[in-house]
Amino acid sequence: MEIKIKRTPNEEKQSYNVDLENVTLLTLLNHIKTKIDPTLTYSHGCRSGICGSCAVRVNGREELMCTYKPSCGDTVEPIRYARVIRDLVVDSGSIDIFNRAGLAWSEGSREGNVEDEEMERIQTQSDCILCTSCASACPVYAVNPDFIGPFALTRVWRYVSDPRELSSHRKLAAVQTNGIWDCTLCGECVPVCPQNIAPVQDIRMLRTKSGRMGYNDPTMNFGGGLDFGSPIF
Ligand code: SF4
Ligand code: SF4
Repeated sequence: MEIKIKRTPNEEKQSYNVDLENVTLLTLLNHIKTKIDPTLTYSHGCRSGICGSCAVRVNGREELMCTYKPSCGDTVEPIRYARVIRDLVVDSGSIDIFNRAGLAWSEGSREGNVEDEEMERIQTQSDCILCTSCASACPVYAVNPDFIGPFALTRVWRYVSDPRELSSHRKLAAVQTNGIWDCTLCGECVPVCPQNIAPVQDIRMLRTKSGRMGYNDPTMNFGGGLDFGSPIF
């Protein structure tokens, strides 16, 4: 099968002919690297869809190398909106930057039993493997590189809806700028998620919760300067 791979530094797509069928993209790249071109560079870890380190774009859609099975003619590129270090390897520093901007972690939890159904509510978001496929698919980064973005906002919702979390209010405050209101609700982040997470739904929930806490969508024109008040905490 023929496969094209975008290479650095000239960004040209290099074609490789590989005599392999019905294998994962990672197996195919390993074959190219060991048998054809040792300069080809990519990153991977667990080889089983858990570590999130092998996301790339195939024919314009985000995929994990270790689970995607390529077809003849596929074009492989690095994920978008991240600095390309070499070939398919990108700088993953944005993960920390966006999680930090949204305070997307636990800042302390209260003691107490949590009902099973409450844990089930946040289980899906807890399954995020930080592959950044959703961020690569998100059109907002083309106009706002500071957008906190889908994976961090999903994590924020996970902690905001955790009954043990002590700092939900601080997290809601953190996502008012470059956060929930910058999302266009286009849903592009949903089909690319290998963990079946729907960040757009979590962003909707954060908007609803923010509204209840007294925040407004800053893009709305309330004509006449109605004062909806400050957040109520
Ligand atoms: S729904 Fe929001 S976060 Fe998801 S891709 Fe669209 S703009 Fe980005
Ligand atoms: S939400 Fe899904 S697509 Fe986004 S980083 Fe987490 S696992 Fe990857």
